[in-house]
Amino acid sequence: MKSLQQVDAKIASLIEKEADRQEFGIELIASENYTSKAVMEAAGSVLTNKYSEGYVGKRYYGGNEVIDEVEQLAIDRCKELFGCEHANIQPLSGSPANIAVYLAVLKPGDKVLGLKLDHGGHLSHGHPVNFSGMMYNFVQYEVEQATGRIDMDKVREIALREKPKMILAGFSAYSRNLDWKRFKEIADEVGAITMADISHVAGLIAGKVIDSPVPYFDIVTTTTHKTLRGPRGAVIMCKQAFAKAIDKGLFPGMQGGPHDHINAGKAVAFLEALQPEFHVYAGNVIKNAQAMAGELMKRGYKIISDGTDNHLMVVDMTSKGVSGKEAEVALEKVGISSSRSTIPFDTRKPMDPSGLRLGTAAITTRGFNEADSVTVADIIDRTIIARNDDAVLAKIREEIVALCRKHPLYK
Ligand SMILES: *Cc1c(COP(=O)(O)O)cnc(C)c1O
Repeated sequence: MKSLQQVDAKIASLIEKEADRQEFGIELIASENYTSKAVMEAAGSVLTNKYSEGYVGKRYYGGNEVIDEVEQLAIDRCKELFGCEHANIQPLSGSPANIAVYLAVLKPGDKVLGLKLDHGGHLSHGHPVNFSGMMYNFVQYEVEQATGRIDMDKVREIALREKPKMILAGFSAYSRNLDWKRFKEIADEVGAITMADISHVAGLIAGKVIDSPVPYFDIVTTTTHKTLRGPRGAVIMCKQAFAKAIDKGLFPGMQGGPHDHINAGKAVAFLEALQPEFHVYAGNVIKNAQAMAGELMKRGYKIISDGTDNHLMVVDMTSKGVSGKEAEVALEKVGISSSRSTIPFDTRKPMDPSGLRLGTAAITTRGFNEADSVTVADIIDRTIIARNDDAVLAKIREEIVALCRKHPLYK
């Protein structure tokens, strides 16, 4: 068969262009990472040709002997990695995984407690524009304005008052560890199901550098492509008592055929995360985030909660006289990718909020250490200061290319 280059030179060249952008840019988007060539080989394999609706040993199509082995390997490795009782590795991505959980354990209109979006939560945790907010009655808890942290006594107060069917713990933009045990105690007090969405920190949990909710929580969802460094996808883990409902909620509940090529990539990523090197990687991600946050704070940047326990930080850019969007645009000019973000109690609009979210999962994968992370903070600061000076920005761009050459990625 013909190669991509022979069939479609345009797409081939665009992929090459994107590979260059990744190779010579600094990736600070907290939800992104660089997956291994091994994962990409699996994800780009003939497994994409197969239909295998159903589960291992119970498929609605023939010819699934090999796929069954692939899926079983992914399940076994996921269970070993996180120590969960049951794993469904078929979710196409994080939001679909969460839909499947809601379908499995809730009825439309049921009450759920979740973290507010502009306080670090995720759209699929009950935002009004998302299916979760339309179908279910989400009540939200917040972070404290003074500390930027979740106050568990307040979560308990809300839980006792609201009596939710489920309590959801998890975030997309919160830089502190969650007290999983306390969430579980509160849920038990009001008879609620516990769900954790560890999409952002799954790699840090798999690397055993921060605590896991798996021993305590009924259900745990995660994407596989953020700190976990696998292909774009998700998994649902749960206690045995929820296994049947979760599996049914996903298929036939809301998905059709699984993406077997991606699931093979997940199996490879789980194997990689089981290696001792991954524990070192996860530790370095946090060290780098703390080095970067420390340097930014030293230079007068306000970081929500004044630091980080994980891979990410939310910076209040108004402390430097720019909006999150202005900062994102300025950094883009020198080849740094970041994402604007609302901050708790933000007075600006979501399309142009006050915050900028930064993360170190990707730069750590390409070998940046703490000194490099301090350099990146320095570059960020100089870029913000010189944001209207194209000559200075061009010089900074050259520095970044040199830094990237020092830590080659795929090339
Ligand atoms: C990223 C994320 C998701 C959604 O994942 P997609 O794969 O983009 O659908 C869900 N929950 C949380 C907490 C996330 O951070």
